[in-house]
This record gives sequence, C-alpha cells and structure tokens, in this order.
Amino acid sequence: MSSVYREFYEKNREYLWNPFTQMKEYLADDPVIIENAEGRKLFDVEGRQYWDGVSSVWLNVHGHRVPELDEAIREQLDKVAHSTLLGMANVPVILLAEQLVKIAPPGLKKVFYSDSGAEAVEIALKMAFQYWRNIGIPGKETFLTMKEAYHGDTIGAVSVGAINLFHSTYTPLLFPSIKIPYPNVYRNPYGVSTHEEVMARSLSEVEAVMAEKAGQLAAVIVEPVQGAGGMVPMPEGYLRELRHLCDKHNILLIVDEVATGFGRTGKMFACEHDGVTPDILTMAKGITGGYLPIAATLATNKIYDAFYADYDELKTLYHGHSYTGNQLGCAIALANLKLFRSRNLITHVSQLAEHVTDRLHQFHELTHVGDVRQKGFMIGIELVEDKMSKRPYPWQQRIGGKVARRCRELGLLLRPLTDVVVFMPPLATTADELDSMLDILYQAIFDVTER
Ligand SMILES: *Cc1c(COP(=O)(O)O)cnc(C)c1O
Repeated sequence: MSSVYREFYEKNREYLWNPFTQMKEYLADDPVIIENAEGRKLFDVEGRQYWDGVSSVWLNVHGHRVPELDEAIREQLDKVAHSTLLGMANVPVILLAEQLVKIAPPGLKKVFYSDSGAEAVEIALKMAFQYWRNIGIPGKETFLTMKEAYHGDTIGAVSVGAINLFHSTYTPLLFPSIKIPYPNVYRNPYGVSTHEEVMARSLSEVEAVMAEKAGQLAAVIVEPVQGAGGMVPMPEGYLRELRHLCDKHNILLIVDEVATGFGRTGKMFACEHDGVTPDILTMAKGITGGYLPIAATLATNKIYDAFYADYDELKTLYHGHSYTGNQLGCAIALANLKLFRSRNLITHVSQLAEHVTDRLHQFHELTHVGDVRQKGFMIGIELVEDKMSKRPYPWQQRIGGKVARRCRELGLLLRPLTDVVVFMPPLATTADELDSMLDILYQAIFDVTER
C-alpha cells in the first residue's frame, strides 16, 4: 500500500462518514479511493483501474470525462453557476423543461425540479396528496405501494418504501401506506411461476384493495423495474393494466423512473414499453449523464391546473430547495440529451441489450445462480444456496458482497443488493467492454460459489 493511499485512508477514517456503509467493516477493508476516470473506467489513487460496472450506482450514461459534457459546464460557468428558481427563472431550466416534456410520455406537461431522486418522490407525494385537497375531495390521503419498493431515503420516500433492512428502524417516524407484493415472477406469495399468472394474481389483489379503499387512496406509486428491491422487471403489460385500474377507481398513478429513466431499459422511459402516461413521473439518475444532482417531477396539466388559482385560495405547492434549478446541472442535462440524439443511444442500448442477453445464458448454468433478470442495461443475478428450492444463502454469509469483492480484485466495481449481483454498465458501453466486464463477473461468481 502506497503512502499516498495511507494518507487518504487515514483522513477518510478521521473525517468521513460514508453513506449506506457500515464504517467498521469499511475501514477494516482497504476501501477504493478514486482519483480520476476515463470513459467506462475509474482509477484509484494508486493507479489501479476498474470498470464502472454499476455506472457509479446507476447514474452514468456516456462514461466519465465526456468532452461534450465537460464543455457544457465550462460554457455555463462563463455565464452563471446558480441563481434561485423561487419566484424567478433562468435560461437552462426553461430550455431543459421544454426538452423533458418533449421526451417524456405524452401528456406530462409540467416540470418541477429538485436535486435528487428522493426529493423528486417527496414532491410527487405532496402533489398527489394536495391535488385531492385542492379539487375539494377529502379523505384521499393514503398511498398504495409495493413490498420491497425503494423510492429514496428521506422520510416521505421511506414511508412508501418497503425494504426491511433499510427501512424498519424508522417505522415510528413514517406515515402509513398500504403495501402489496410486487409482481415478481421468481419469488411471489401466490405460488405461481409464469408472467401471466403472476400478473393476474397481483392485479386482482390490487383491484381488491382499490375497490375497498378508493376513498382513502390518493395515489399508487410504482417502479417499472424494482431496483433496490433486487432488479425485478414488471411483467409486460402490467403497468398498462395498473393504469386502467387507477382510472377506474379514481386514483392517481405515480411512476418512479428515477432508476429506469433516460434509456436504462432500452426506451427513454420504461413507461413507453407499455404505452403508459402516469399522472406524475419522477426522474433523476441519468438526467445529467451522471455528472450533477438534478432531478425532476413531471405532472400532467390535470395535476398542474388543480394548483393554478388565485393566491388567496392557498393552492400553491409549497416546496423548493436552495439549489432547485441549478444552471450548471441543467446545462449538462441539455448536453446529455443532445448526445442521446447524436449518438442514437437508445438504439445502442436496445441492440446491445440483446448481446448481453446472449452472454447471460451462460450464467444460468452456474450451480448457484437462481435467477437472471434483465431489462435493457438493468441486470440482476440472484444467487441462491439451493437452486431447486430457491433457498437463499444465510444473509450473514454476505455472498453478494463476496462476489463484488472478487470482481474488484479482477478489475470490476459492483455494488450488490444482498444476494442479487447488480450489473448496470454505462449506457454507452461497447460490446467489447461489455464482454470484458461479463467475463470478470462470471469468473467472480464461479470463484466465490463453486471453488
Ligand atoms: C435511487 C432511487 C431513488 C432515490 O434517488 P436519490 O437520487 O438517491 O435520492 C428513488 N427511486 C428509485 C426508483 C431509485 O432507484
């Protein structure tokens, strides 16, 4: 270990508290400390290189140090870095709002900015809640969400989340929400194993809850692919049926596209797979190509119009953050969208996703790979102790963590979700690069589970 590394490590130990990290375990290992990057690779302070196999936790689009994006920041810096969006506006926020409405599912017409996915979700929840008050329908104050849902770490977002490991500690702080199982084909409480059966059973459960509780339900909130819950795509057609059920029972639909938005699933937004327009849509991770913290909550005019009133009617949406509408972030987001177009990135992802599918076949043959799930460039490989019975490994074994550690030794950075090994390469990753990453991944799973 070099003296440079030692120095940074000591300062990390002395001053820094890392997110989602048990510091005791982190400091007992030799944590990666990144210094710079190039394309799809990250380099640590000792010059070791790693593939960025999870896009720096689901953000990165084109790779790192993209000349066009770097240039967009520099150009904006010559104008202004930040001015407030409270009661006034600026050039890049307006231009970006126009672009976002153009690429979003049709009917989403207004853009409300924030700085992170969790905030975009908080705003969505407040919009839905206040919508019913503003139009004079009392009592619709509850949200329907799904088990293993993840919508961010702030208290409102955690209230509609349902990952015990992350959320159960905070239960006394949360507002109640109704939780039904996610339509997970591999593991579901219905004891069925085809897409059609899971979809039918799940939707009838949704419908039963809605029929009973429509008067209390403000909105349903869903992820089109459950992300932190284990990379679980919804059965095709499910979201469309959910939209119908929401309409039938007069309940708003919020789709959380924080992870799935911006090409991740092979369409600009995952809603497009089912031709669905939600009442409210949240987006964040890919919006700036993985550069700066910008997020947005998009709403239809039906929602917007319920807030549009004389001041003394008190229908204003009282929400905003100091850095809402940051110009540097919005300028990069505009440059990011320009690159999506000039590089045909969506086509690239949908084509290379097929290549990844082909390569993933070989993973099924591994003794401890229970399920391989994929939607575009969102991939989850679920490891099990026993494949026949789907029996998980004892959680204390940290099998996913071990695979990630082995990947790191082989030059690939990953971050697992318990026993689900997550592979989320930057969207612009080439076929050769994907092959190199998948070779390492296969080797690591083999080494950890079969050697
Ligand atoms: C990551 C994520 C969030 C939270 O976004 P942050 O920017 O980390 O606050 C919300 N919803 C989904 C689906 C996510 O994947």
